[in-house]
Amino acid sequence: MEHPENDNHYKGLKVNKGVVQPPVVNPYRRKRVKKVTFTVDEYVAGILAGDVTILSQAVTLVESVNPQHQVIAQQVIEKCLPYSGHSMRIGISGVPGAGKSTSIDKFGIHLLKKFGGKLAVLAIDPSSERSKGSILGDKTRMEELAVHPDSFIRPSPAAGSLGGVARKTRETIILCEAAGFDKVFVETVGVGQSEIAVHSMVDFFLLIQLANTGDELQGIKRGIMEMADGIVINKADGDNIPYCDLAASRFRNALHLFPVPDSKWTPKVLTYSGFYGIGIEEVWKMVYDYMDFVKKNHYFEKKRRRQAKYWMYESINEQLRNSFFNNESIGTMLKEKEEDVLNDRESSFTAAHELLELYFSQIQKR
Ligand code: GDP
Repeated sequence: MEHPENDNHYKGLKVNKGVVQPPVVNPYRRKRVKKVTFTVDEYVAGILAGDVTILSQAVTLVESVNPQHQVIAQQVIEKCLPYSGHSMRIGISGVPGAGKSTSIDKFGIHLLKKFGGKLAVLAIDPSSERSKGSILGDKTRMEELAVHPDSFIRPSPAAGSLGGVARKTRETIILCEAAGFDKVFVETVGVGQSEIAVHSMVDFFLLIQLANTGDELQGIKRGIMEMADGIVINKADGDNIPYCDLAASRFRNALHLFPVPDSKWTPKVLTYSGFYGIGIEEVWKMVYDYMDFVKKNHYFEKKRRRQAKYWMYESINEQLRNSFFNNESIGTMLKEKEEDVLNDRESSFTAAHELLELYFSQIQKR
């Protein structure tokens, strides 16, 4: 059809016929894939079948702050619970640079080769909130494990308080176990608080130390050492071997000063080299010896029951805290009270008391 503007009425204006345009600029552009969402039963079935893609998606739900996701996640966890508990849960801690990722890569490959089964590597990084994402449990740091078909590596959940982050990791352990992972590593940085969280979800707590740092007692932050079931001095290779031996004997001496732990297991101190793969076998012999020991003296179940109780209280704390801080009126009043306290118009105690009073009165009205 001739363009209407070429009519005599629009003298002096000539509009040429256009060419037919293709429907999209780039016909090869990928269509946006609609994210598949599953029902609770589909998630559970996928996890129990060992489907790692569905497991990953379920873990994403566990980590989500969206309340609707949380509801589904909790139902999935509840249904997976009867299939969980059958793994060996190992906590691995050490300061940055101690060689955690190098070691985990070697440890993991060693275990998978020797015993088969499946390994999940999870992480808790309390600093990740600030750095917006954690490097712990990062696949690129564990070259061999990352491409191993029987491993599942998941970095630390990023958002929330340490308690919240740790709770999510603990729930992820349950999902991994239901998916058939019979070995779980939980990695954390050796800075204090996070060890307590990891310790409360694993069967064996391995502390990686370095010799020759000029501060031999780096880990003799007493609390952390007391939690360790095994202390391993890494980088025992080349010229460093004598220093590692020396550090090991210092740690052994220091451990003697501690009371006998509830498990009745005397923590061992070993040296090894994660990078060169020296002494790995011995480290894992120690872990398996421990497992035998605590299964025989029933400490294993006792500890797991105690951990379950700990997490019940942790969940109560977390939910109460969230309910309080997510309350709208509290949010408004909190800012005012904060100003009052900062400017000495009110004491911290009275301000807290008034905020709680408001919160409880609102709860009662419901
Ligand atoms: P992470 O921060 O604790 O995860 O430590 P990494 O595994 O990233 O290791 C830190 C550095 O120490 C890297 O440069 C590693 O190559 C090195 N490293 C790790 N294990 C060993 C070891 O057994 N011997 C030696 N000589 N170097 C190691």
